[in-house]
Amino acid sequence: MTVKRRKIEKLPCKLCQEKKTIDYKDVESLKAFLTDYGRIVPRYATGNCAKCQRKLAKAVKQARFMALLPYVGDVHNEE
Ligand SMILES: [Zn+2]
Repeated sequence: MTVKRRKIEKLPCKLCQEKKTIDYKDVESLKAFLTDYGRIVPRYATGNCAKCQRKLAKAVKQARFMALLPYVGDVHNEE
């Protein structure tokens, strides 16, 4: 017996469509893929392809190292 799986409609990868190159200096577009806490949004939530997500993660990490992005974002909301 083969298990029939419903095909999940794949979201087209935004970054591939726009043919945008991901750059660590382009903080504004990187921020679109970060949560308020500065975490990288997972692939299943953004619809990025594996290739772009990898590039993105690398760029974000580089940006963090260069102090362009925080390692930990806004956590000062309590009190
Ligand atoms: Zn892509």
